[in-house]
Amino acid sequence: MGKSRRHVSSHANKSIDRPQHIPSVDHFLNDPENASLIGEYGLSLVTRCAQHVLAEARGKVLDGKAIDYASLLQALSSETAGMVQPSLRPVINLTGTVLHTNLGRAALPEVAIKAMVDVARGASTLEFDLEKGKRGDRYKHAEDLLCYLTGAEAALVVNNNAAAVLLTLNTLARRKEVPVSRGELIEIGGAFRMPDIMARAGCKLVEVGTTNRTHSTDFEDAISPKTALLMKVHASNFEITGFTKTMSEQELASIARRHALPLVTDLGSGALIDLESFHLPHETTVAEALKAGADVVTFSGDKLLGGPQAGIIAGRHDLITKMKRNPMTRAMRPDKLSLAAMAAVLRLYTNPSQLATELPTLRWLSRDVEDIKQLTSRIAPIVQNHCKGFLVAPAPVQSQIGSGALPSNRLASAAVKITLPRQNRPGKALIRLAKAFRDLPIPVIGRITDDALWFDLRCLEDESGFIANLEGLNV
Ligand SMILES: *Cc1c(COP(=O)(O)O)cnc(C)c1O
Repeated sequence: MGKSRRHVSSHANKSIDRPQHIPSVDHFLNDPENASLIGEYGLSLVTRCAQHVLAEARGKVLDGKAIDYASLLQALSSETAGMVQPSLRPVINLTGTVLHTNLGRAALPEVAIKAMVDVARGASTLEFDLEKGKRGDRYKHAEDLLCYLTGAEAALVVNNNAAAVLLTLNTLARRKEVPVSRGELIEIGGAFRMPDIMARAGCKLVEVGTTNRTHSTDFEDAISPKTALLMKVHASNFEITGFTKTMSEQELASIARRHALPLVTDLGSGALIDLESFHLPHETTVAEALKAGADVVTFSGDKLLGGPQAGIIAGRHDLITKMKRNPMTRAMRPDKLSLAAMAAVLRLYTNPSQLATELPTLRWLSRDVEDIKQLTSRIAPIVQNHCKGFLVAPAPVQSQIGSGALPSNRLASAAVKITLPRQNRPGKALIRLAKAFRDLPIPVIGRITDDALWFDLRCLEDESGFIANLEGLNV
């Protein structure tokens, strides 16, 4: 140890310009300067990083560059820390899209977070019936509440809505035909394409009508002895306007009933309550879709519902029972954390008066624009202090709901808008500034459009935390 210490310290302030002066991995690791790093991260990980750092240094020196020993120490420390830095971490979503799929969609209410923590820490009743002291049903934890809230006879929770659609089609329509209106053959981000899902579910898609118009007769003509069910898909992320005709749930349901076929509706976002009571545009609720005649409805847990990632299948008891018996269900079953969170969120819905305060998704979507405006006028001058050379000002902006809910509806909001004075093409400087905000201890994510960097403050609640975080801004 003493020997290596002397050896290494002889390098300490020297510039290294020959490969033979680069320390060996052993010598480098034995440098007392690295002792605390090894103590914190373990010898194995630090060794691996040291090998990499020294190999890179060798490459540089062979290229004729000189490096100093202190920079090797620095590189080892940051490389090691980088290895264990989680890549999945919280950010501040100021994009103006409330349910942002890339940023994790719905934020969970505190009651759901507590429920997850409670079951995470130890054993739970996940599949255990306390009454009988025997094996219980994992799906029960959410089913009764879902039935109560939607009017469905039965319900099943799976990992996401893509799984819900796949399971529904595979159970009810394998080796059979499913007519769908051409205007509803949607693609959603992340490679969810209705025709591909149909193929993987083992059923044959029968395209009905035209892109912009589908009539009852089109559906009547498409029905054959091989038809398994009729399907309606919520056109989540686009709207066809102009000369259009879509089939309502009621129209489709009456055709389905005439032919003794089930009607399946993929609602996508699936609101559990009427959004109009939160001064938001109307979105078909699950209860409404079922009442209008859908036999099975599928929707996401982490879109408008505001819960954890999940897919929910709600509807007729006999059909849901078949799905529960499909071996595929086992591959899609939700874990205890999602179920705990889902049940907690559903419990909030039993008393709608608390939703606007307790459920972040609805709290943010229904947030008063005056409140957001006042926040921007407090935050903008502080941001300005950290962004010398830029022009920071409050500005009106339009938020979106996101995740395919009400794609053409915008919510009036307010933003901190950052521009560059007197520059024709501020592109690069704004991109650098946006990166500096992403490099903050809690990364802040905004949006660049119209030669400005925008931070829509609709989803910002922790004002003092945000301001403290800004101290780390390196512009
Ligand atoms: C979002 C969406 C899906 C996929 O839901 P995930 O929960 O993301 O799997 C399926 N169908 C429609 C209509 C959607 O809007």
